[in-house]
Amino acid sequence: MRLPCRNYGRWGTCNMSTPLTTQPDQGPALHVVIVGHIDHGKSTLIGRLLHDTHALPIGKLEEIQAAAERQGVRWEFAHILDHFAEEREKGITIDSAQMQFRHRDRTYVIIDAPGHREFLGNMVTGSSQAEAALVLVDVTQGIQPQTWRHCYILGLLGIRSIAVLINKMDLVGYSEDAFNRMKQDVEQVLSACGVTAQEVIPIAARLGENLTQRADTMPWYQGPTVLDALGHFQSAQVVREELRVPIQDVYDVDGQPMAVGRIESGVLRAGRSLWVMPEGRPLSPSWAIRKYLQPPLAEAQQGDCIGIHVADSQLRRGQMIVDREAVACRDRIRASVLWLANRPGRVGDRAVWKGTTQEVPAQLTRIVKRFDPAEMAVVESNAAEIGPSEVAEVELLLAHPVVADAFGQIPQTGRFTLEMDGEPIAGGVVLAGE
Ligand code: GDP
Repeated sequence: MRLPCRNYGRWGTCNMSTPLTTQPDQGPALHVVIVGHIDHGKSTLIGRLLHDTHALPIGKLEEIQAAAERQGVRWEFAHILDHFAEEREKGITIDSAQMQFRHRDRTYVIIDAPGHREFLGNMVTGSSQAEAALVLVDVTQGIQPQTWRHCYILGLLGIRSIAVLINKMDLVGYSEDAFNRMKQDVEQVLSACGVTAQEVIPIAARLGENLTQRADTMPWYQGPTVLDALGHFQSAQVVREELRVPIQDVYDVDGQPMAVGRIESGVLRAGRSLWVMPEGRPLSPSWAIRKYLQPPLAEAQQGDCIGIHVADSQLRRGQMIVDREAVACRDRIRASVLWLANRPGRVGDRAVWKGTTQEVPAQLTRIVKRFDPAEMAVVESNAAEIGPSEVAEVELLLAHPVVADAFGQIPQTGRFTLEMDGEPIAGGVVLAGE
């Protein structure tokens, strides 16, 4: 049986034979995005992590150091990332935006996110899928608007494995008070974005302090190092009860339709009753779970890419397979959105709403509240416009109903993008209620 399976599109890649990046002798790699305001030390941290975990090819460090010397520039660990970026531009490496290192039998894939647009864009197109995040904050600068936006996007994307790294501790004499003040600020921001940091770690990226080993300079800090914190992060997502399988494509396999897609939530068990949404009709009971080149399965889990083999000619991309008859479909959505387009969003604007594989024409019918991106305080109720990079609570009217769960209940089917002329103009999460 040959089963073509093309890119899943928005929220991930559906490849039924290799669902995750794996190494032959270990479990799945953990994809970690590193975010932070410019100059807070992201490149330095990445360079240092690659160096301190011996992930650089032999001779690479010397090559980069020699190049810096030739140009008369003071050596910085950040040059490692610049070097990869140059290689990428020259086409020497295929994808150096993703860098890897290994620690205690696990591979970590570092996703560099230069700005919040790139970050959301990469996640939205499925070109990178962060499961964990390191949020960098320069202790001398504090929280910046970009830090807010990054934290908001982490919440939007449902990333729960987060460590905040308070960087440049050497510049404040390794002061515990300075660290505690910053920790409090960051925790406030995160909680406003609906996320919590599992760890807040004081570091000096340039000096490698508290990255791979505890630093003597901060004896008051008893928590984990950055590598220890990463080691505690789980790559598996929480398995939820309710089944959601967005249909990505339908193929003809052995003369019968095969609807393929990834199980976004729940467990698919053979013999269960299933329904097709938004139509709300029951699926023919004689269906089978298939995986590439495998006999029918009794069960498949959240995150698995599977095929549902069934005599049903009505199946098509954009439908959702669920295991309860009473799953609510809606054409009115109340949501929190981050406006990405350069021009403001206005009440009455039309766009395409995209959530998992569902695509529906939509209209922005109300801007309930507009937030100041720097402070996350409400600046206007019932606004006429949302400015670029602003966050707003909005109401959308869709041309027909979709399965859109409250993000707090099922994050995978509770997030969406709005697109205009093929470009994402906003990313959002569905709020509970209408
Ligand atoms: P990015 O824009 O977030 O990638 O920031 P960079 O990694 O380029 O760092 C910006 C500047 O901060 C560089 O000059 C770094 O050397 C410096 N820097 C980074 N980490 C530290 C640190 O722990 N201590 C000090 N003093 N400077 C740092």
